[in-house]
Amino acid sequence: MLERLNCKICDGFAYFMGSRRGNYKKDTTFHYYSCPNCYFSFVGNPWLEFDKIYSHAYYNGKGADPYVDYFFELNHPESTIRKYEWKGLAKVINRFVSSKYTQYYLDYGCGSGGLVRYLSNNFYFKCFGFEEGSIASHFNDISLLSKVDLEKRKNTFDIITAIEVIEHVIDPLSFLKEIRSLLKLEGVFFFTTGNAKPWRGKITNWSYVSVPETHISFFEPSTLALALEKSGFKPEFQGFLPGFSDVIKFKVLKNLRYRSESKLFDVLPWSMLSRLIDKKFKFSHHPIGIAI
Ligand SMILES: [Zn+2]
Repeated sequence: MLERLNCKICDGFAYFMGSRRGNYKKDTTFHYYSCPNCYFSFVGNPWLEFDKIYSHAYYNGKGADPYVDYFFELNHPESTIRKYEWKGLAKVINRFVSSKYTQYYLDYGCGSGGLVRYLSNNFYFKCFGFEEGSIASHFNDISLLSKVDLEKRKNTFDIITAIEVIEHVIDPLSFLKEIRSLLKLEGVFFFTTGNAKPWRGKITNWSYVSVPETHISFFEPSTLALALEKSGFKPEFQGFLPGFSDVIKFKVLKNLRYRSESKLFDVLPWSMLSRLIDKKFKFSHHPIGIAI
């Protein structure tokens, strides 16, 4: 454990905030650092054996993150609660569609490919997925691009999403620069990740950091704005968008360990509940990126 490390976003110093034993890699203690300048927080000694982290077990919820349930979602698309998230994200993405021009969409880190499948069935534009994890070898019903394919598709996408991806990334600026290189000018990058601001100064108390093998980078809205600016984007704060209610409904049910949809869930007043939950977690405070 070192007292301080360089911040990967602003290049100031980030200071040691605390440690956590691995959830899955139990022989390792992971150390957390926060930057007092841009409020980026990160695991200073991340586990780098990605093939072991993102293994078959991981996608079944038997690896580092017990909340991951991708094979169930892949095999039960009609009943998984993930449907709520797909529906909500479709509403969000619809907001960014300019019907005349939107042609190409990419979900970067598409997991089970569910969002790409859902959008392909509901929108006219061409939908692609990119996924480096082993789960991608278990489906062939969506247009999946490889790293080599992405190299050939610079400046071609109108909209890119990365849903709960950036917290898994070791070098967020390289990641954002790659996304920017794939977008057309004025293309939209919409992404979700936890908001670290309510846990400023006490990052290790946040439930989101409880999987130190996979969640390694943490952001406040202003951290993301700075990172976006450094990567060729104009950050825009759009607040609570149509569709967020369904996305938050999924997050709540997932954290309550539900897997399948139920009519009972629809009885609850989600439009009000989601606003209350967002007041606490400030999910809607994060910016989106416009390629400039
Ligand atoms: Zn910083």
